[in-house]
Amino acid sequence: MKTSVIGFPRIGRNRELKFTSEKYFAGKIGEAELLTEGRAQRAFNIKVQKDSGIDLISSNDFSFYDNVLDTAFLFNVIPERYKELGLSVIDTYFAAARGYQGDKGNVKALAMKKWFNTNYHYIVPEIDDSTKIALTGTKPVDEYLEAKELGADTKVLLIGPFTFLKLCRFTGEKGISDFKDALTNEYIALIGKLEEKGCKLVQFDEPYLVRDLDKEDIALFEEIYNKILGKKGSVKVLLQTYFGDIRDIYEKIISLDFDLIGIDLVEGRKSLDLIRKYGFPEDKILVAGLINGKNIWRNDYSKTYEKLEILKGSVSEDRIIVGTSCSLLHVPYTLGSETKLTEDYKKHFSFAEEKLTELKEIASGDEAALNANKEIFKNRIDVLDNDVKERVNAIKKEDYTRLPSFEEREKIQKERLGLPLFPTTTIGSFPQTDDVRKNRKDYRSGLITKEQYIGFNEKKIAECIRLQEELGLDVLVHGEFERNDMVEYFGEHLSGYVFTEKAWVLSYGTRCVKPPIIWGDVSRKEAITVRWSVFAQSCTNKPVKGMLTGPVTILNWSFPREDISLHESTLQIALAIRDEVLDLEKNGIKIIQIDEAALREKLPLRKSDWYSEYLDWAIPAFRLVHSGVAPDTQIHTHMCYSEFTDIIPAIDSMDADVITFEASRSDLLILDALKENNFKTEVGPGVYDIHSPRVPSVEELVSVLTKIRTKTEDKKLWVNPDCGLKTRGITETKASLNNLVEAAKIIRGQ
Ligand code: GLN
Ligand code: ZN
Repeated sequence: MKTSVIGFPRIGRNRELKFTSEKYFAGKIGEAELLTEGRAQRAFNIKVQKDSGIDLISSNDFSFYDNVLDTAFLFNVIPERYKELGLSVIDTYFAAARGYQGDKGNVKALAMKKWFNTNYHYIVPEIDDSTKIALTGTKPVDEYLEAKELGADTKVLLIGPFTFLKLCRFTGEKGISDFKDALTNEYIALIGKLEEKGCKLVQFDEPYLVRDLDKEDIALFEEIYNKILGKKGSVKVLLQTYFGDIRDIYEKIISLDFDLIGIDLVEGRKSLDLIRKYGFPEDKILVAGLINGKNIWRNDYSKTYEKLEILKGSVSEDRIIVGTSCSLLHVPYTLGSETKLTEDYKKHFSFAEEKLTELKEIASGDEAALNANKEIFKNRIDVLDNDVKERVNAIKKEDYTRLPSFEEREKIQKERLGLPLFPTTTIGSFPQTDDVRKNRKDYRSGLITKEQYIGFNEKKIAECIRLQEELGLDVLVHGEFERNDMVEYFGEHLSGYVFTEKAWVLSYGTRCVKPPIIWGDVSRKEAITVRWSVFAQSCTNKPVKGMLTGPVTILNWSFPREDISLHESTLQIALAIRDEVLDLEKNGIKIIQIDEAALREKLPLRKSDWYSEYLDWAIPAFRLVHSGVAPDTQIHTHMCYSEFTDIIPAIDSMDADVITFEASRSDLLILDALKENNFKTEVGPGVYDIHSPRVPSVEELVSVLTKIRTKTEDKKLWVNPDCGLKTRGITETKASLNNLVEAAKIIRGQ
């Protein structure tokens, strides 16, 4: 059988693209150097895949920031406010991605959203009534030709028109129906250009198809593709789906003139059934997504062969191509970079490059490879912990409920804390300057002693507290200088985790995260954050918030186990964090924030599965963490970068006392939904975007707050940025927070 890869990670084995981009953003290098780095990364990826013998390799899976934004720029979906800056094409692109503040103007970035159920974030394209869709870009053609020069006749990856339209935000009167024809025509024009250059296969990524689709969606899809497929000429078209099954549209799709169809057989629970039930047409080729593009565990060949056997009942072997379940963008580059993990662990993992080998081995049906694979699955060390199991089994129904009621607690807490109206706070982290990173690194590598490490952090905390007092913030934080990452840090202090050195995965733009791996049963060995919070509190009379990461986020931002359920893993983590909450409280911390930034991440893409498959256990797991605290301890939570409007009742039932969340980039739409749902939890809608270096002015913040006040009760309103400040510089942080406190004072005055 042949092999196909949907897309490959693009940031570089050692995050080269990230470092080069950052130099470019800082003005240290010019455009030419940045473009050269991009070319080098693309060439490297082509070579790795070619050397592995992959048959269908994608071009145009590269991006300097985001593929959805690339698609928008390809078709001239560029809001005027970015064009008006009069910047170069690439800087206009970066202005839309990151915002721009400089001598040419001052504009915010476009909104950013989670890419389906992953931790990758895409930029939301904006279409207004004056948008003229036109094929103005050449990126797919250029990258096709570039790969060809390197000896690879690639398939060209394009985000499909259906998914693209569904992800766009329409800001005027017009909607999808007003733009679909123009967009379809421009896609056809693009296929024509690709054909001219010798391109033989185009891959349309249409992940939106795994969502719930209604009649109109299906009609829209059919209309667009009937046109495209009617004009595809000699180019073959692969419809690539991923992140689930396409149960609402499978029958329709197999009746259309696609040449190849890519189906996710890992996350798509019903994919096999669909193929069995409705068959698979003889004139088409199936790209069977059998290798998990999201998780890092080695593929179990025996199980994969079982699936293949079933498939062969409906599709002849010569029409099956072995593929990845989704783009490999969501896994790290290579195990080859891991020097510390022993073979006992490593042999159970497979990153992007290793997955190429898996594809080849499965496709070849190699007997020796199958046997070697079977051996690996025979033993896994250090997995089970009976105490953990017993503790999970002993959880009672009452343990999921905090008493007394929210209303009673609210009164008690207001009295104890004595905060002003519109209390100001931040989300937790302060800028992670070079000295902060160096301190952690030096400690890790044994260059400094534990005392030196702690001493430095305490000095930083004391400075951070002083800064916040000077700025006049009301609820302070310690700054999170001990943390590399909000999940990895906790993972490191819990047993049951293993860690990597270089297993970076793209989160947004050029930012990566390094998710730890849940290897076995999880428990807390000792107090984790208490010493930092207690020290911070000793520096001030104002309340300092303890800062923890919640169990659902820890789970969702780790690579999870596949041998027990996500629910069971989450409960194990919840019990560990619960112990930490109680320790903080016992040590005099009056406010504890439990971040659930990634709560929505594993929300099933189909609404009908939301509660039964996820929220029904995820929300109680969060409650289990804080249900043991006294009524006067205030529990905060924080969420960011995803749509909440449709799960507001679930969020309210997390039963936190205060929630801060991202709102500034999505124009406060969420507030209407809170009002409609009678949201009881106090709220801190982020008043400015921290993912951009731009400093919001006092007037701007006052106007945001004024708008917020029309939708939220004053007594429930907090004032804060929309996320942690760790990626920001110190100067802009001071300036922004200063303006934030100023704005809160002005509003209080009113
Ligand atoms: N407390 C964390 C911080 O401030 C929250 C980060 C996040 O939501 N992603 O960095
Ligand atoms: Zn956040």
